Amino acid sequence: MAAVVIGGGFFGCSLALALRARGERVTLVEREADLLLRASANNQARVHGGYHYPRSILTGLRSRLNYPRFVAEFASCIDRSFHHYYAVAHRQSHVTARQFETFCQRIGARLSPAPAEVRAWFDAEMIERVYEVEEHAFDADLLRAAMRERLQEARVDLQLATRAMRAAPGELHTDRGVLRARWIFNCTYSAVNELLAASGARCLPLRHELAEVALIEPPPALRGCAVTVMCGPFFSLMPFPAQRLYSLTHVRYTPHFAWEERTAPAGPPPPPSGSRAAHMLKDAQRYVPAMSMARHVRSLFEVKTVLPQSEHDDSRPILFKPCAELPGLVSVMGGKIDNVYDLPRELDGLLSEAA
Ligand SMILES: Cc1cc2nc3c(=O)[nH]c(=O)nc-3n(C[C@H](O)[C@H](O)[C@H](O)COP(=O)(O)OP(=O)(O)OC[C@H]3O[C@@H](n4cnc5c(N)ncnc54)[C@H](O)[C@@H]3O)c2cc1C
Repeated sequence: MAAVVIGGGFFGCSLALALRARGERVTLVEREADLLLRASANNQARVHGGYHYPRSILTGLRSRLNYPRFVAEFASCIDRSFHHYYAVAHRQSHVTARQFETFCQRIGARLSPAPAEVRAWFDAEMIERVYEVEEHAFDADLLRAAMRERLQEARVDLQLATRAMRAAPGELHTDRGVLRARWIFNCTYSAVNELLAASGARCLPLRHELAEVALIEPPPALRGCAVTVMCGPFFSLMPFPAQRLYSLTHVRYTPHFAWEERTAPAGPPPPPSGSRAAHMLKDAQRYVPAMSMARHVRSLFEVKTVLPQSEHDDSRPILFKPCAELPGLVSVMGGKIDNVYDLPRELDGLLSEAA
């Protein structure tokens, strides 16, 4: 049996490998000139250890399970060289420090009080408590190289610079010709509905936002550190290994605008009207005054896609959705990188049901 995977992001590559491991012939079609150039590269590079999700215990628990697997499997792509501090804000936080501690205890995520010299970075009026945690970052360039090698070894037929146009029963039309396959997996992340609509299938409810990740030189005091302020309209600062810089994101300023798709794809968003890095930096200084010494270098802009429910409960489940109108077409989207370990279960369920 043959399968085509559309989308050479981390999920499409992982799915192609999982299919090969189950004996399928696989073609992977990616419209860009290389793998992992879109959301899988333009993100915050956090390997989620669960701490980020005090509003969704299930996502926190799944992250706890997936985190050590990801860090072990992609050890050569992981940056462990920094200390990570989570700070709970006094005001406007969805959780208090006490609630955050209880949540971490429930999901089995270790916390320790940050040392006094680290606590001193924070404005005590603004921050209730600061913890040190273990949460690493990944290097998307190294991940790309690792995936390229694995796909080559597994003899996945890779068609780069090839755009999938529409699926029909048993075939995928691309701008370079037609591919025939029993299974077609739509792993196009923010473009999932484009392919569904072009194929005459019903769209899936999705929420998108045009997100800005500012890349900065951190202040000297914060070099070798990451800071995540919880849990509301606050900022995160993390090493961004692929560009030897730090990412700065802010819950209020990172999304430039958001939109939902319910019945039809919305098409590409208009370009951003400029960077909001200055706003992010200014607000971050209220919590960590030393951020006044940070310097914005450039920004990454990417469409971030989640299920509409995630807007309310902050969950990040995997989407694995066979298409009712076109048997054999399956849409797949992982809300975060480590969700990749939820793929095999879904795939095995699909293949065994079809057998
Ligand atoms: C701003 C931002 C910050 C994030 N931060 C984190 C984080 O810190 N940690 C974390 O775990 N997750 C994070 N995420 C989520 C994570 O990046 C995604 O869950 C993950 O990258 C999705 O992988 P993917 O393969 O589904 O998508 P992508 O990497 O976007 O891959 C989809 C691919 O499909 C291709 N494609 C689209 N249409 C077609 C077509 N018609 N034909 C052929 N190819 C096509 C695209 O070119 C693309 O390469 C973040 C996301 C964003 C946007």
